[in-house]
Amino acid sequence: MDGRDAAEFSGGKEDWARAAAEAERCAAFVPDVEEELVVAEGRSCYDCRYRRWSATSFTCHGPANAVAPSVSAHPAVAKRP
Ligand code: SF4
Repeated sequence: MDGRDAAEFSGGKEDWARAAAEAERCAAFVPDVEEELVVAEGRSCYDCRYRRWSATSFTCHGPANAVAPSVSAHPAVAKRP
């Protein structure tokens, strides 16, 4: 963990449409290395180098200034308790 209050995606690991929509509007998206990609085509949080898989979903560890306000405000993402 990087010490930030990481946001967890509330759509789990198979909400492909919402993960794609979130990545489309995120200025910090960076594709992960090829062997870590899980989406066939297009942009998705599931393929972002800043996502860290959790047991049921992922948390975003993107640059705080670029990502945190957008992610925390998005209804698809819930703050960890
Ligand atoms: S930085 Fe976070 S919100 Fe942005 S595309 Fe990557 S995982 Fe998604």
